[in-house]
Amino acid sequence: MYNNKKKVNIMERLKELKNDIYRCIHCKACRFAYSGDPNREGIGEFTGNTGNTVLYEGMVNACPAGIEFGWEAYWNAGKMWIARAVLEGDLDLKRQGQEIADVLYPCITCGMCGAQCENQVRTVDIIEALRAAVIEAGLKPLNKHAWMENASKTKNNPYGGPKDQRTQWAKDAGFESILNKNVKIAYFVGCTASYRQKNIAVATADLMNKIGYDITVLDDEICCGSPFFRTGLIDEAKRSMNHNLELFGKYDIILFSCAGCYRTFTIDYPKWTGKPNKFKTIHAMELISEMVAEDKIKLKKNPELDGKVVTYHDPCHTGRHFGEWFKERIIDKSSNLMLDMRKVDQVVNEWFEIPRRIIKAVPGVQFNEMYRIKMDSFCCGAGGGVRAQYPEFSIRTSHLRMDEADAVGADIMLTECPFCWRNLYDANEQYGHGKQVMTILEMISKYDMIEKVEKIPIEDALRDNHVEKIIEGIGKKKKK
Ligand code: SF4
Ligand code: SF4
Repeated sequence: MYNNKKKVNIMERLKELKNDIYRCIHCKACRFAYSGDPNREGIGEFTGNTGNTVLYEGMVNACPAGIEFGWEAYWNAGKMWIARAVLEGDLDLKRQGQEIADVLYPCITCGMCGAQCENQVRTVDIIEALRAAVIEAGLKPLNKHAWMENASKTKNNPYGGPKDQRTQWAKDAGFESILNKNVKIAYFVGCTASYRQKNIAVATADLMNKIGYDITVLDDEICCGSPFFRTGLIDEAKRSMNHNLELFGKYDIILFSCAGCYRTFTIDYPKWTGKPNKFKTIHAMELISEMVAEDKIKLKKNPELDGKVVTYHDPCHTGRHFGEWFKERIIDKSSNLMLDMRKVDQVVNEWFEIPRRIIKAVPGVQFNEMYRIKMDSFCCGAGGGVRAQYPEFSIRTSHLRMDEADAVGADIMLTECPFCWRNLYDANEQYGHGKQVMTILEMISKYDMIEKVEKIPIEDALRDNHVEKIIEGIGKKKKK
């Protein structure tokens, strides 16, 4: 929990993570991910159109930065030892900041390493704290990050899009009536869906309209701050956060279609302010998934998709980052970890079933899972400031993920994040994977798949009624 009021000493944040840093025993298990289930058969050897042959069986190299750059420091274990050397004074952030940054910034902050670590080292927190410390010590942001920061300061979004264009997608798609209303649910669209992947904003508004929820979109929404939290530009991240907290503070529920914005509002904001948000947060897929679970929505076949094979890419920000956050809190509250680690599995399984429940309810398509999924999912390559600063590496990472989808015969790559969508789509185009890339909700909207629907209270779908209930129960027995 970090103090939002006074200027934060970032080195202090790194020191707060000292126990984590010293728990790293340099075993390097975090380099690999496997299917996560020892009983699940691998899909064998496959040569994708990257030309790479990967044996999708057992442990597979899974750190994108390590795969791309190869040297020890680029894999997570190397970075954990850099953090240790900084704490011990063997590396000096002022004198060696540039060299440290060179290996820190190609990390996509995907969190795959943290998910593999049996010692529960919070690797992404450490990497982000180290980045912030390097900036605090005086290193200039990398050029593309500096550009994004300046765009955010002047235009309130990292793309530099004009303010009056932020909600143009709604006007163009005939949803002008949802702008700036005083209703219970505000839809935080995010910069990517506002300025780039408008298809996702339109699909979300369209579905909410079809299933009967009154939402609003605000002209004064600005960047959630995620690109700046991830790249160590904390002042700009906090400026964005404070604006949004004030603007959205009067709404009960904030709805998201972007994995990164959802994570930032839900996990980062309370961490930085030291108090719970005034509102509840929910991703639109949680609502649709709950409707499926309660049998209140029936989807119909679309002949254009009939017989197609779909697969699903878990965005790191809605997937593993939430999984790790749930785990961290369960460990924190537990008085009997032997028993409560089973609760981690329960929570994580329930969480990852949310998008899958919707896909399984789509008639006429075949759902083939990739080898690495859920907590072990391979990243799309877009996050952590990498797409902006290292675009070729970023797309190559996505290309590897598309190979994995090819290996299970997928015609359609589904995901649930505009930023993942962008990178997967670009790799698909650039490297000729020949797939359709869509979000699940976009598919339902675009192919007009709702046969019948009955509205449920949106509260039914909140995490409070699902995973949070399980977490809430942890440690209660101890107090009695
Ligand atoms: S972070 Fe965890 S898995 Fe990775 S090297 Fe350190 S102890 Fe091993
Ligand atoms: S967060 Fe992802 S890219 Fe960064 S070190 Fe860990 S596995 Fe590699």
